[in-house]
Amino acid sequence: MVDEYKLIFEDLKNLNLKSMTIKETEKMKSLDIKTLHDLLYYFPRAYDDRTNIKKIEELRGDEYVVLKVQFLTISNPYIPSRIKMTKARATDGTGVIDVVWFQMPYLAKSLKVGEDYILIGHIKRGYNFQMTNPEYKKVSNQIEMEKGEILPVYSTTKNLAQNTLRKILKKNVVTNKKYFMENIPYEIVEKYKIMNRQKALNEIHFPQDKKNLEEAKRRFAIEELLILEMGILEKKFIEGVSDGKKYELKDSKILVKNYLKNLSFDLTKAQKNVITDIYKEFNSGVFINRLVQGDVGSGKTVVAMVLLLYIIENGYQGVIMAPTEILATQHYLSIKDDFEKLGVRTEFLTGSVKGKKKEKLIEDIKNGEVSLVIGTHALIEDNVEFEKLGLIVIDEQHRFGVVQRKKLRDKGILSNLLVMSATPIPRSLALSIYGDLDISIIDELPPGRKAIKTKWIGTEPDLEKAYDFIEKKLSEGRQAYFVVPLIEDSEKMAVKSIEQYKYEIENRFSNYRIGILHGKMKNSEKDEVMKSFKNKEIDILLSTTVVEVGINVPNATIISIINAERFGLSSLHQLRGRVGRGEYQSYCFLISKTDNDVSKARLRIMEKTQDGFEIAEEDLRLRKSGEIFGTKQTGFSDLKFIDIIQDVKTIKAVKDMCIEYLKEKKGIIDNPYLKMDIEEKFKEQLS
Ligand code: ADP
Ligand code: MG
Repeated sequence: MVDEYKLIFEDLKNLNLKSMTIKETEKMKSLDIKTLHDLLYYFPRAYDDRTNIKKIEELRGDEYVVLKVQFLTISNPYIPSRIKMTKARATDGTGVIDVVWFQMPYLAKSLKVGEDYILIGHIKRGYNFQMTNPEYKKVSNQIEMEKGEILPVYSTTKNLAQNTLRKILKKNVVTNKKYFMENIPYEIVEKYKIMNRQKALNEIHFPQDKKNLEEAKRRFAIEELLILEMGILEKKFIEGVSDGKKYELKDSKILVKNYLKNLSFDLTKAQKNVITDIYKEFNSGVFINRLVQGDVGSGKTVVAMVLLLYIIENGYQGVIMAPTEILATQHYLSIKDDFEKLGVRTEFLTGSVKGKKKEKLIEDIKNGEVSLVIGTHALIEDNVEFEKLGLIVIDEQHRFGVVQRKKLRDKGILSNLLVMSATPIPRSLALSIYGDLDISIIDELPPGRKAIKTKWIGTEPDLEKAYDFIEKKLSEGRQAYFVVPLIEDSEKMAVKSIEQYKYEIENRFSNYRIGILHGKMKNSEKDEVMKSFKNKEIDILLSTTVVEVGINVPNATIISIINAERFGLSSLHQLRGRVGRGEYQSYCFLISKTDNDVSKARLRIMEKTQDGFEIAEEDLRLRKSGEIFGTKQTGFSDLKFIDIIQDVKTIKAVKDMCIEYLKEKKGIIDNPYLKMDIEEKFKEQLS
């Protein structure tokens, strides 16, 4: 059975399904359908609900509708091109619509004026309402119509007809019983009265009625979450109950004390609280698995340093992992001296460390001669072994999601884990999204920070003024960032390339030195530029969002974000956090000529507040779904059947189901199909 189930993840063409030609299999690839699983989970985009026929007088336009009409005229007008067009006018007695089909000249003969037809398609508002290439169906049987029939409507491509897709699905949904074993543990199915998988698959594609359809949708939402949450929680549960190391840590904290003595400031109360909480957790017998959230500039690094020194003093090794080479370098440069002063050997290991040097380093880490390793993800990839690993700190969480954490654990790199994130996430979401992490919040900024003055620049004269202002600040010795959005479709979006901006900015600020930073550059080149900026050999840094996370140059006090409407609030907030890091007043210019109301509202929020949590809440209000503040790579942002805002309750409920189940089962998932689905899900995300 289990072996048979595996087949649903096989390439479709190896399955040799009777109901599908090889050609059709090929075409499906463009819909991202590669396996039987993909096919069966290719759910309708909408339903053609015959129970819900619209009247023409009720139409609003730009909607997907089912109409019951009679044709008034049908013809093939001559147009001087190879395109063949069929035009029709139709009515249902409450109004008139125009219908156009392309490349189907035979329709002019086969459709009959004065008989009843069903038209299904997208309706647009023009002079009359208009449908292009709608589906049509002759109403032959009045009873069938009245009874109603709900047909699936799939997103499809030109060369794969809606009806073909329907036929294929109908056959496979019904006949492939043997593959479709229940992947939700039966305890959960029973307790929460969940529609079984076989039935739900049938109902979601070919619903008998709306009630069944809703039940089926609920089932797939739960199933999808269950696969994710079980995958996340399974390991945590096992770690939690079994042999979590008992850390017998000394309380002297001499290294910590010396480190703090050397700092030029006192820790904030919030920093202290988080540190004391985590101290206690080391001795709890369970691995720490904690997210430390704190707005940009709240001083997360210091917190991490203190905790690292604590375990290092006790003979353990520590790791700091950063998402990029630049950040890793920055950490290394700022930490190394302080730590070596305390006699703590600190080393740097990223993809750019190679050859003999690397071999030696890996050897030293294995022997426990290195106390702190700072690096990038290369640390996981390279199978680095530790003698006695005590704490892993992951900086800037939103580039390092659930999947990567699972990967760490799967590689047997089990240790205490602290994830530092500058991305504020509304509490309501955080609890469900970070299924496997406990959360601490540093909810206070160090004293004396000046608010960053933020202004939305919407016109040319304002832009000129802003440039004058920037020039003045540069002349006083400050530095400035310019950030441009990533360019996907430069022509269409009329966004200038970074090269063009370079030209513009070089012209405008001809007395100043300009550096460029973008994702396509080699790591070594990026590091060079960052170093020059830090050392004040460059006055202006023109960059893409590469600078988004963690870069710390206190003398840079102005950030101008070009085409600011193209960034999410999350990014704007992170970008703004690049300034306001030192003693000087800092400024943020949001340059945008947007007309869009939501964009405007976003820019105004940025002007109004600097509180990341507030911004996150506002962001939630402005968006209905899609990618939300800081949810990328949590594994929750690419869910198909769940909207992480609308369905917070479901997320929470499913998480509770998982915990309850895992407790009952002592951490073991005993449904093999679910296990396989989890494996697939995480495999997919890692590739
Ligand atoms: P983030 O939380 O964004 O990672 P950092 O840890 O980089 O913030 O800290 C930002 C700046 O604030 C650093 O220059 C750091 O030295 C400084 N800092 C950290 N804690 C304090 C504090 N308690 N008082 C004053 N400055 C602090
Ligand atoms: Mg930081």
